[in-house]
Amino acid sequence: MQVVTRIAELRAGLEPLRRASRSIGFVPTMGYLHRGHEALVRAAREECDVVVVSVFVNPLQFAPNEDFESYPRDSERDRAILSAAGTDFLFQPDVAEIYPRQLLTEVAVPELSHTLEGGTRPTHFQGVATVVLKLFHIVWPDKAYFGQKDGQQVAVVRRLCQDLDLPLELRVVPTVREPDGLALSSRNVYLSPEQREAAPSLYLALEKGREAALAGMEGSAVQAEIERRIAEEPLARLDYAAVVDPDTMQPKADLTGRVMLAAAAYFGKTRLIDNLIVDL
Ligand code: AMP
Repeated sequence: MQVVTRIAELRAGLEPLRRASRSIGFVPTMGYLHRGHEALVRAAREECDVVVVSVFVNPLQFAPNEDFESYPRDSERDRAILSAAGTDFLFQPDVAEIYPRQLLTEVAVPELSHTLEGGTRPTHFQGVATVVLKLFHIVWPDKAYFGQKDGQQVAVVRRLCQDLDLPLELRVVPTVREPDGLALSSRNVYLSPEQREAAPSLYLALEKGREAALAGMEGSAVQAEIERRIAEEPLARLDYAAVVDPDTMQPKADLTGRVMLAAAAYFGKTRLIDNLIVDL
């Protein structure tokens, strides 16, 4: 595995491979890697000749009151995991490499960015869209891998690719969970033992929502069911629950076709998100 911190160095490393028609798979991450990230890297390894993983905690997608400074980081462990998973290039730039000057350009998909996560984190998806587009231009992958865990992020990136005719294929990998249902997340490390025990309530509430949807309840009733279940857990504080179209992020009343059930809740100061896709 080649560890690269400079854009020019990565481009120089990839150029001969691209010219030799080797397919490039790209996995953008913020590090502190877990089995969820590993599933993305494994999918890229299976489907592509060359695997590029970026580890970059993107300041642009954190609001000033959020956890950019304290976001967990462990570069050595990440390197060991990525090397063992068959990564060819680890791109690990510092903030000045990605943002060497004030950004005067905006990249955003506002229509998909203001509900759900965007309701609580209004500038988040503009930061995501900007860094993802920059990374795509740096790596120029054939396929890019994202987790269903961040379902709204998938919708934003998909639309960005469609609207701007980016010549790459988006691959979405199912959410990897702990045995008790909790979705793996770098932020799970913040949880106290009691909060960790309570945290699967988010997933279990979504499961109850799925049952309600399959039983024929309409969107608002399914949403209420998810909210009610989360409220039953004393250590959870509901941020939102929603029943939406997975492409438009618009609320769905009549539940037919693909539906995304999404929720976010605080366990202490830690905010966790999760979602399920249901085919009705
Ligand atoms: P992050 O490092 O949190 O920005 O995540 C990097 C990528 O890994 C994103 O595409 C996430 O959706 C994906 N990811 C995070 N957690 C999981 C998980 N539990 N299962 C599958 N993918 C995940």
